[in-house]
Amino acid sequence: MVRENTYFIFQGSRVLVRKDSPEISPVTKEWPILEPLAESILPLGKGPENTGYAVGLHSEANPGADFEWIPLRSLVGRVDDESFKLWGKAAQTLHWRKTNRFCGGCGAETVDHPSEQARVCPACSLTWYPRISPCVIVLIIRGEEMLLARSPRFTEGMYSTLAGFVEPGESLEATLHREIAEEVAITITNIRYFGSQPWPFPGQLMLGFIADYAAGEIRIDGVEISDAGWYHFRHLPMIPGVGTIAGRMIRWQVDRLTV
Ligand SMILES: [Zn+2]
Repeated sequence: MVRENTYFIFQGSRVLVRKDSPEISPVTKEWPILEPLAESILPLGKGPENTGYAVGLHSEANPGADFEWIPLRSLVGRVDDESFKLWGKAAQTLHWRKTNRFCGGCGAETVDHPSEQARVCPACSLTWYPRISPCVIVLIIRGEEMLLARSPRFTEGMYSTLAGFVEPGESLEATLHREIAEEVAITITNIRYFGSQPWPFPGQLMLGFIADYAAGEIRIDGVEISDAGWYHFRHLPMIPGVGTIAGRMIRWQVDRLTV
């Protein structure tokens, strides 16, 4: 059986979907209509097994009335995990190619690596792989309460777990201790791994942890965090959806306490 190729189509951070379709899925049989509008077509894997492509359309391309553009971010929680990973991989592949056309070391134009998903500089031999930025995200527990906080960037009324980027030279544990100290001025203990989630905005990998409160009073930094507090699991504020690792960790803890 011939497997159909799938095309994950983007214009910047927006994705192209069929209008009035009950579910969000990449383009398959409509591809011949859209192909002439493509600026870049990049395979998501190497070799004959690859059946998916990341496609960037020209900025002025008009795909017609059967389609509409929606933000990539709006797919979180609306498509299943496996689909979201593919959309995210396509977004990251396009972003990587766009931002690595020239060597960051010497400025020469890069070329495709012969066997890996990478760009190589023919002048100085540097190799440029897609960049992934690790971030830690942590649910802090104190008995039947959990620490939730909001950033000024959040939707009005939304509270979530704390998160931060890993810095060079840090272990994940060191990042957790530093971020928690910086953002809410408390200490944590008994850190355990929960799970991870690719977060293609544009290239984070979220590494989720659960930790216990150790000591200190909450004192927010007032910059990255505009409010934070201890919330009883039966009286939570608005929290992120199940499509996010933060939303899953919070619900996991609620379920554990509800039993
Ligand atoms: Zn170079």
